[in-house]
Amino acid sequence: MSKHGFWTRCPSNDQMEISRHWRLQQQRYGLVGECCPHCDEKIFPPRDICPSCNGESKTPYTFSGKGEVYSFTTIYDAPEGYEGMTPYTVALVRLVEGPLVTAQLTDVDNSAVEIGTPVEMVTRKLREDGDRGMLVYGYKFRPELLWTKT
Ligand code: ZN
Repeated sequence: MSKHGFWTRCPSNDQMEISRHWRLQQQRYGLVGECCPHCDEKIFPPRDICPSCNGESKTPYTFSGKGEVYSFTTIYDAPEGYEGMTPYTVALVRLVEGPLVTAQLTDVDNSAVEIGTPVEMVTRKLREDGDRGMLVYGYKFRPELLWTKT
């Protein structure tokens, strides 16, 4: 059991021989970090070293994508490439597995965001790359569908 009391065990490495290309793909479309085979710590973003026990941790781990808002800030003056999106809210989300992730919130009334709001990950267009006209996708978080503000 990890110190977070989360139930999943870290899978063993021999079941998880996958290419770096696959890992990059998964990072784009899912929330993939690593877990520690020594102490079951869940790690995001992946850094190959467990922050809890300093052991080598290269086992891919797909997070549930669920968490809650830990802190947030609403952006009114956006950097280049994000101008069409203001105002938007960037939140520090504490995943149910433990790690903190910074991401933009989507499908949300900016004034309705509160600390503790349950959120889930979705894949969304992040921004347009102006020079090449490319769309950049990545993960954002939105309030969990069953959650309504009362
Ligand atoms: Zn560890």
